[in-house]
Amino acid sequence: MSLKLYTYYNSKVIYGPDSRYQVLKAVGDINPYKICVITDGNIATLYQDYIRWLENELEIEDTLIIEPGEKSKNIETVITLWRDLFERGLTRKSLIIGIGGGVVLDIAGFIASTYMRGIDYISIPTTLLAQADSALGGKTGVDFIIKNGIGTFYPPRYTFIDPVFLETLPIIEVKSGLAEIIKHSIIRGGGFYELVAENSLETIERDGELFGKFLELSIETKVNIINKDLHERGLRRLLNLGHTVGHAIEKLSSYSLPHGYAVSIGIALESRISREILGFKYDDEVVNILENYGLPTEYNYDVEELVHEMKMDKKNWHGKIVMTLIEDIGRCKPVELDDDHILEVLRRN
Ligand code: ADP
Ligand code: ZN
Repeated sequence: MSLKLYTYYNSKVIYGPDSRYQVLKAVGDINPYKICVITDGNIATLYQDYIRWLENELEIEDTLIIEPGEKSKNIETVITLWRDLFERGLTRKSLIIGIGGGVVLDIAGFIASTYMRGIDYISIPTTLLAQADSALGGKTGVDFIIKNGIGTFYPPRYTFIDPVFLETLPIIEVKSGLAEIIKHSIIRGGGFYELVAENSLETIERDGELFGKFLELSIETKVNIINKDLHERGLRRLLNLGHTVGHAIEKLSSYSLPHGYAVSIGIALESRISREILGFKYDDEVVNILENYGLPTEYNYDVEELVHEMKMDKKNWHGKIVMTLIEDIGRCKPVELDDDHILEVLRRN
């Protein structure tokens, strides 16, 4: 399979297997003074050979390893890494390469965007969720007071999406990423949605090429949207589908639910709300699709608590709840609702 290139702003996204030589070429073009890799303990073990190879080829200064998991995504980790970079003599002409899932990349991007007011950054996502969604668009940050409370927009110079990494991914992580892919297919509609609708976890597990197609269409959809709106003022808000409810559910579960699972429940519930408010006709179909990919669509919540959490979301200003709803497949829009209205709809569903 050949490599595919996408761009948004000055950021290049390269999708395809065996991208390691492309990484060398990209670093050659940047021509940095000193490079540090940032990754987590799991990737450092699973991809020891890959990282060793990069270290040798690129004469990497050091590989900085953080503890896997969301608990690392805090300002203390950032301070440790900032200090590590100073100790290793990185300058404004240096490069950071982040290799990992959302946690690693959120931190590595934040480090790159703040160290000496911002240095070059290359991102190598290794989870499906990061490859299909979160590593695209330049969001970085850490949890502070709230989830992702502090952060920046900082598109990497290059993002290498190599499906080879997905072979070691636990199934729960695969399904979590699929929720974002399904979200993109609903936003985009057309052939992408049909492909997702007529397949299932079983068929894509058997057919690597089909799985690759899902990933490619997902990347393409996201890149198209962020190209039109980097700072989430308009179109990018569509990507929030499933997330107003999803974030609230994540919070109610004390973050024990994986992000994609909460998003799946969010898409299911927001489809129901879309039927009530915009006359969306395919809510049953959407719920079926999510279930065909082994994703949860229900959660035992208290309606009042859920609405309270939605109001706390940083995207919801002046007491109203902004939710991206579905008018039709391929046609979504942000809608501002007051809580009494949502309470009433949720009580019926
Ligand atoms: P995301 O937010 O993208 O789901 P995280 O950074 O929270 O990602 O990663 C989830 C878990 O998966 C972490 O424990 C991480 O170390 C692990 N992980 C990341 N990439 C891989 C991979 N390619 N194979 C196996 N485990 C991985
Ligand atoms: Zn998400």
